[in-house]
Amino acid sequence: MYDLVLLGGRIVSPGDGLDEVADIAISDGRIARIASALGGEPARERVSLAGSWVSPGWIDFHVHCFAYSTDYGTFPDDIGIGSGTTTVVDQGSAGALTFPGFYQFMVRTARTRVLAFLNVGLVGTIKGSMLPPLHSPETVDVEFALKMIADYPQVIRGIKTHAEMGGVSRWGYRVLELAKQIGRGAGLPVYVHTGRLIPADETRLPDPDRVIPEALRYLDAGDILTHCFTGHPGGILSTAGTVHPEVRDAVTAGLRLDVGYGEHFSFAVAERVLDQGVRPSILSSDVHAAFGQPHSLEATYGLAGAMSRMLALGFTLSELVAMVTQNPAEALGLGSRLGRLRPGDEADLSIFEVESGAFRFRDPWGAERPGTQRVIPLYTVRAGEVRAVGPKGVTEVV
Ligand SMILES: [Zn+2]
Repeated sequence: MYDLVLLGGRIVSPGDGLDEVADIAISDGRIARIASALGGEPARERVSLAGSWVSPGWIDFHVHCFAYSTDYGTFPDDIGIGSGTTTVVDQGSAGALTFPGFYQFMVRTARTRVLAFLNVGLVGTIKGSMLPPLHSPETVDVEFALKMIADYPQVIRGIKTHAEMGGVSRWGYRVLELAKQIGRGAGLPVYVHTGRLIPADETRLPDPDRVIPEALRYLDAGDILTHCFTGHPGGILSTAGTVHPEVRDAVTAGLRLDVGYGEHFSFAVAERVLDQGVRPSILSSDVHAAFGQPHSLEATYGLAGAMSRMLALGFTLSELVAMVTQNPAEALGLGSRLGRLRPGDEADLSIFEVESGAFRFRDPWGAERPGTQRVIPLYTVRAGEVRAVGPKGVTEVV
């Protein structure tokens, strides 16, 4: 007898070559079978998903979920299983000094699978995270970071760092260099914020067009540049509006690009980048709670809203599902366990609706674009357990 049979959903899993209406049987938290006509099989529970889409559980590669301890931390389950996502990857909330607290209070207490990129700096993005001293090379301890990674190998999947004008004005590329030392020592990728961020030494501002080409000299295949559609200066697009040729070469050689949607996303930049034939392989939300409002844990946007905007930009649904399942799973080094649907795998699924209509989507810069579809998460299945999205989930779509 199966524990659960999901009937008649449209299953889309690019990593498995699946795009068809079928049933999924689940037992002991794992996928037992994917086939048509499982409705007659004995099961404790049956759920009809006619008209809905089913994909491998979404992986949100860039979130901030260290509630209370950081300026903008959320709770993993609000932005994870409560928002249609079964795995979240915290990007740098915790550094080596603060990681044990993050693990005990956030990772262990969540139903959502929580993975992390360790902040290159010892303290991570604790409250006051925009203070320049917290980002200086003085806050990096390579040996201590390597020890912490060795202590939490299941959770820490990479190193979070920055390549942006503020930090470069103060310390050049030293922090990035140290992040790579940690990454190479641990055999893990480095995830790099792009676009101006940290308060700069205005007397030593770098040329925005040189920041990313210089940073790429330190990076390898498998590393990830995020905020590839940033509206801030110093990103992958030059001030003249062309993608730096160094970025193209690096992507061809295996560097990954992530959207890192959130407060940096610009429709205009996205259109210019896409027009030049450069495409990100990962879509993440960069979801965080409100800046400047201590203890406001309400997030107002998330991964589904980001997917709707990417549909408006011309991405196909199948490409987007790959960008939130198979591709991030591979970037995490977990492609043989996550981001796919195979019998025997842990049953992590995202169930969603694609609603048609006439929508207008806004970016944080006030620009609007029309769209005809939006993605609405309905349920998550995490290790076989079904949960309806909301009420605190991030379902904002327009
Ligand atoms: Zn972020």
